[in-house]
Amino acid sequence: MLNIGCHLSVSGGYKNMGETALSIGANTFQFFSRNPRGGAAKAIDPQDAENLITLMKENSFAPLLAHAPYTLNPASNDERIRAFALDAMSGDLQRMEMLPGNMYNFHPGSHVGLGEDKGISLIIDVLNTVLFEDMTTTVLLETMAGKGSEIGRSFEQLKRIIDGTKLNGKLGVCIDTCHIYDAGYDIVNNLDGVLHEFDDVVGLTRLKAVHLNDSKNIFESHKDRHEKIGEGSLGLETFKKIINHPALRGLPFYLETPNETDGYKEEIALLKSLYEVN
Ligand code: FE
Ligand code: FE
Ligand code: ZN
Repeated sequence: MLNIGCHLSVSGGYKNMGETALSIGANTFQFFSRNPRGGAAKAIDPQDAENLITLMKENSFAPLLAHAPYTLNPASNDERIRAFALDAMSGDLQRMEMLPGNMYNFHPGSHVGLGEDKGISLIIDVLNTVLFEDMTTTVLLETMAGKGSEIGRSFEQLKRIIDGTKLNGKLGVCIDTCHIYDAGYDIVNNLDGVLHEFDDVVGLTRLKAVHLNDSKNIFESHKDRHEKIGEGSLGLETFKKIINHPALRGLPFYLETPNETDGYKEEIALLKSLYEVN
């Protein structure tokens, strides 16, 4: 079965997202762990969380993906921004235990002039502080387009973060199809080669999720502008290959395309029609 969902708004609560997912043919979804522009997190209603867990069990959902705020930058040269990253991630990971066994995705960060080595070591410091032994959440590093001083533009950078983190059994990777193409991994012409490289550098066992986005920009543009599935430089044929690839087909796929709920429903139906049952 194709495990597919999209980014949903958390504003109506947790069970509401589960119901929306079902109504558009999804069996998972992504949501922001808190306001993406920063600020305090809303308390989770335990009953609402419980209701979502029940709905997920009854409908054989794949794991959910919480996305950390974009403003979070554990590699920042500004101490206050780093402190916010630490605080927000730590709080989010505690709260995630109300929805045990799911996943939490974050952008590794931008070193804003400190250099790659320093940035990576700051990210490792944050992870070594916020991860805890008995957590049930898997924390995913997202592959980035390499805009500005973004870290996570190469598999090697992700590998260094994983290697430096003490509790790295809690870590995985989320490949964003728009981001890696923008970063210079040619998944249009050489998907096999890129996945082989990922396996060599990071290991495919670390790959836990895929963000499915087409790209508004050309190969290696380092821009990060998502496009609707099939309408960008990746093209529909690439997505057909991705969702059916033996190394990927069992993973959960999350759409972050420029769509409202109806558009997501159409994309989910389209992707299901391209999924080969075997
Ligand atoms: Fe992201
Ligand atoms: Fe993404
Ligand atoms: Zn993006």
